[in-house]
This record gives sequence, C-alpha cells and structure tokens, in this order.
Amino acid sequence: MNFKKMLLDGIYPRCCPVCHQVVAPKGELICPDCVRKMIPIGQPRCMKCGKSLSDKTREYCGDCKRIVHQFDQGIGIYPYDDKMRESIENYKFYGRREYGDFYVQAMAHYGRPYIMRWKPECIQPIPMFPKKQKMRGFNQAEYLARGLGECFGIPVETNGICRVQEGRAQKELTAAERRGNLKQAFQIGHSAHPYRSVLLVDDVYTTGSTIDAAAHILKANGTGRVYFLTLCQGKGF
Ligand SMILES: [Zn+2]
Ligand SMILES: [Zn+2]
Repeated sequence: MNFKKMLLDGIYPRCCPVCHQVVAPKGELICPDCVRKMIPIGQPRCMKCGKSLSDKTREYCGDCKRIVHQFDQGIGIYPYDDKMRESIENYKFYGRREYGDFYVQAMAHYGRPYIMRWKPECIQPIPMFPKKQKMRGFNQAEYLARGLGECFGIPVETNGICRVQEGRAQKELTAAERRGNLKQAFQIGHSAHPYRSVLLVDDVYTTGSTIDAAAHILKANGTGRVYFLTLCQGKGF
C-alpha cells in the first residue's frame, strides 16, 4: 500500500464490501468473516459466456445456444445475488469506491488463468455516456479495468470505443429490446486500433447484450478477438 492510500485509510476508514462496516483488521479490503461468504462461480460453466450450469454434461447455456455472441469468450467471477447487488449499488451510487479494490483483487485472482490464456493486448472498460459519468463522478468499469491493468501490466484503453447515445435504462427493457437499444449506443473512439486481442471489463454480465454491442463495434474496426471479464454474472439455464 502506498503512502497516500495509507493516509486516506486513516482519515476515511475502509468499509467492507459485504457487511458495509469498517474493516478490521486495518489494511484489509474485506472482513475475514465476510470473505468466507464470497464464493466464486464454480464449474460447470458455459464454455462461451462462463455462466454457471446446473447440468455438467452440457457445454453451453441456453442463451449461448440461441444467440450468436459477438465476443469470443468470457467469465464473471461471482454470482449476481442479493449480496453482490447491494455491494455494487453502494460502490456505484453511494461513494463506496474502495469496494473496487476488493473487486479488482478477486477478478485478478480468479481471472488470472483466463487472462493468461487470452493474452489481451489491452483492456477496455465498457464506457459510460459522458453526461452520466460526470454525474456519477467515475466510471465503475474503468476503475476495475485500471486496477486489472496495473496487476497484469496490460495497457488500459478508454478511448477505443465511446458511448454516443443515452438509451432507455437497460433494466426497463426486455432482452430483445436491449439488443436493439444498444446497437446504436457505441461508436468507435478516437484512439481505436485493430488489436489482435482485447479484454472488455464491466461490473455485471446479465444477457451479454452490452458486451456484444461493444465487441461488435471493435470487430467491425478490425479487432481480432474480444474477451470479457466481469465481477458478477447472472445464472445460466
Ligand atoms: Zn464485512
Ligand atoms: Zn453461455
């Protein structure tokens, strides 16, 4: 931990991403009791999107059988349950930016074998609509991407793709409407480059429509392979 972080931890004690109380012992990112509740998604997982499968004889989840995804492969680390929903809500909307440090640690730890295999040339966070980012004060996906970039020594590109249109809130829409809504949402950014391999980073993967829309625009611009890593992921069926 660097000096600035130590100083800040002294003034604003770190809270736990699970119980939201001040973390003890000091210097940790999560309480020892709470970390035991953080159980990552295990096997079997969908070979394409990484969602957990109840039947280990199957290779793909129902979504991936039905939809031709634009991305090549990806995984989320934790199941998107009530605990994580609340944690991410606090991280995004209620100033608990320090939770991002625990998220990065978990994504780096459990995502390492995948990142080693995918060998991304750069990490790109899913961009936010600029006005929305200004209001929130930060892009939650960029915070994760920067942390991962630091861990793995991989450059982070925040201007490869940009968000050009503020559609209706995604959660109000059906899966089909989401896809249509997102098709126009991304545009190639001013520092786009035809990378061989890109890793997209976001907080949550649900239907995959956001990752697909971003992957589509990257591939249309000459990117070879597009992977994703998210903190959480919905269940497969
Ligand atoms: Zn706790
Ligand atoms: Zn799948």
